[in-house]
Amino acid sequence: MSSDERYPVLPLKNVVAFPGTFLTLLVGRPASVRAVERALEQGKRILLLAQRDGGIDDPDPSDLYQVGTLGRIAEWRRGDAGNYEVGVEGLARARVCETYSGDEFLEASVKIEREAEPNPRAGQALARHLLESLSRLSELSPSFPSEALENVRRSKTLGFMTDMAAGYALRGVSERQRVLEAVPVRERMELLIALIEDEIEVLEVEQRIRQKVRRQVDRSQKEFWLREQLKAIHEELGTDLASEIDELRRRAEAKLMPQEVAEKVFKEIARLERMPQVSPEGTVARTYLELLLSLPWTERSEDRLDIAVAKEVLDSDHYGLQQVKERILEFLAVYRLTREKSGSVKGPILCLVGPPGVGKTSLGQSIARAMSRRFVRISLGGIRDEAEIRGHRRTYVGALPGRIIQAMRSAGTVNPVIMLDEIDKLGTDFRGDPAAALLEVLDPEQNHAFVDHYLEVPYDLSAVVFITTANSTHTIPKALLDRMEVIEIGGYSEDEKVQIARRHLLPKQLRIHGIDPRYIEISDRMFRYVIYHYTNEAGVRGLERRLAAICRKAARQLVEGRTARIRITPHRLLEYLGPPRRVHALRVATSQVGVALGMAWTEYGGDILPVEVISMPGAGQLITTGRLGEILQESAKTALSYARSRSKLLPEEAVPPQGTDFHVHLPEGAVPKDGPSAGVAIAVALVSAMVRRPVRNDVAMTGEITLRGRVLPVGGLKEKILAAHRAGLREVIVPKANEPDLLELPQSVRRELKFHLVETVDEVLDLVLLPSSEALPLDSWPIAGGQLTVDFG
Ligand code: ADP
Repeated sequence: MSSDERYPVLPLKNVVAFPGTFLTLLVGRPASVRAVERALEQGKRILLLAQRDGGIDDPDPSDLYQVGTLGRIAEWRRGDAGNYEVGVEGLARARVCETYSGDEFLEASVKIEREAEPNPRAGQALARHLLESLSRLSELSPSFPSEALENVRRSKTLGFMTDMAAGYALRGVSERQRVLEAVPVRERMELLIALIEDEIEVLEVEQRIRQKVRRQVDRSQKEFWLREQLKAIHEELGTDLASEIDELRRRAEAKLMPQEVAEKVFKEIARLERMPQVSPEGTVARTYLELLLSLPWTERSEDRLDIAVAKEVLDSDHYGLQQVKERILEFLAVYRLTREKSGSVKGPILCLVGPPGVGKTSLGQSIARAMSRRFVRISLGGIRDEAEIRGHRRTYVGALPGRIIQAMRSAGTVNPVIMLDEIDKLGTDFRGDPAAALLEVLDPEQNHAFVDHYLEVPYDLSAVVFITTANSTHTIPKALLDRMEVIEIGGYSEDEKVQIARRHLLPKQLRIHGIDPRYIEISDRMFRYVIYHYTNEAGVRGLERRLAAICRKAARQLVEGRTARIRITPHRLLEYLGPPRRVHALRVATSQVGVALGMAWTEYGGDILPVEVISMPGAGQLITTGRLGEILQESAKTALSYARSRSKLLPEEAVPPQGTDFHVHLPEGAVPKDGPSAGVAIAVALVSAMVRRPVRNDVAMTGEITLRGRVLPVGGLKEKILAAHRAGLREVIVPKANEPDLLELPQSVRRELKFHLVETVDEVLDLVLLPSSEALPLDSWPIAGGQLTVDFG
């Protein structure tokens, strides 16, 4: 049915009105207000047309859908601002025929759409379906009004039912408009059901997502809660496993390690994670991981192998030692060349040999500094257990890695300089042979995969520079000695010590004690005084200690303000260091019968060694005391036979009677002595005792003898002569064959000493035996002990 009647048009924003429903609308737009007023004047009919776009305020006819609802204004109220609140009852579907744009508002003529109800069976089925869908929707959508279902069910016709249901169920303008435009009821119902099902589907998905989110929130809440609990437990126990494991993993990921090691680390972390929190096993795993993660695997320091720089460093750190420094520089040059050529270094290991305090350790430090590498020292003294080098298996309680691995850890780089100190003091016993393990450490063929029992994974030591030290080479296991290049450092003369003290030791001690060098004055004479009266050593360690003591006392006086500047005098030294306490090399106060001054070499440098002999009635035996080794005993026998053969040259009355015993004693009684070099001194003392002529007490002698009185060369000459010099002696007798060794002595020492180079014992006797007139009668010879005085200088 179409009519020519024109109805005022009320454009609707964001809403579609359905016939059979009641709509309350707020009308504010001027055109709409005018349309409402016109409707109220004209039978209250108004055409409700939805806008295609809710955002337009002043719509043209083209902005409006062409199907709408003809309504009747059932209620209205005019607001103060001229706006209206109207209640409109939807009457029928209306299709616009023509639109008229008046001055103030739109009008339209319409065709009322008649709708055909479906056949009852199909209608019923559709209605049931629709109601079911709607009820499902109402369950899912929280905003669905509770009375809606009932209202829909009570609708009089299927058309109204569908329209009302659409009014409740659909939100979107375009969907509602589609339902509005579906005129045949069956088609409308099917469309609405499909739309509702779509909506249900969307809502179900939403719900699933919501539930999932909720579950996740629930779970993470639970985890959070559990974690908090765990944290509290760990706090109670004083541990924090979770963060510890995280931390370990983080460190493991950040650390560069060989594949094999990384695998081990992650396996071990996983194992630790599964262990009970507080267990001995956990502690073992932790310490082990700690080691793996703190060991350097790839970290290395940039090498510097500039020989000029190395020379500078060695010179600035050490006074003198020219030959030693040369050897070290040669070593570094070879190191550099072999490395450049083959990438690896298979050269020998340096071994610095010498008495304590001659600078072996500090030379090692300088080598490290020159190469710009880290320096670590391992003391091997007294190590008897192979496990000290190679570690204990982790299954042992309190197992530790060996010293090599420990040193690597403290170095923190794979290429440090490692000093193996006192390699001559290694022991061997039932616990294995540490020397064998060391051999592996030092062997370039093997040490790229050194196995420590604790570590388990092989460790590459090939980039390490090993330097060893020893006091003497005698007790270094032969296999080790073969691998090493020995550099001997003999000990210092007094002059050298003065220079070392002035240039190095004192400045160092002043620095340590925070004393400004201007506040303290020590003359060379005073250094000498300290050296002579307060020390007795080949090196300078004791000297350094004395200087430290001086600095300590001086610092106190300076701080107390008792003096502004300190000049060191013998008097001050008495105050600072006490009375001179040097136990001088057993110097003999007077020339005596049966006492000759030998010279000895010890690990602690040289020393002078008086040989005492007495003769007494007996069975013609040779007695030796003073812990003489086999070689020394033999050389005493040789000396006696030689002396006896010489006594034949004596006047009758001077020849000792048959059956005279000779007793040879070497102080100090408790120190074991050995070696052939005391031969000359023993022979001289024996002859002296036989012929009762005293031996000069200002000449020291050394040399091995043959049965027929020839003098053979000896070792350790430099130390021996330095010791004689230290003891204040100014003449020495040395084997002629040792003449080249004298060149090793410092100039100053050579200048001050008079050397007698001899080939036979007879020459020695000529030099040292004093005229017999000064000899004491046989029966008044003092007994050994009484003859010696300890000279305190
Ligand atoms: P060692 O290892 O041979 O027992 P050290 O290296 O411990 O001796 O030396 C003891 C001290 O003497 C160190 O402070 C060292 O620097 C110093 N020293 C030794 N020789 C010299 C030298 N020729 N020049 C400077 N200082 C030296």
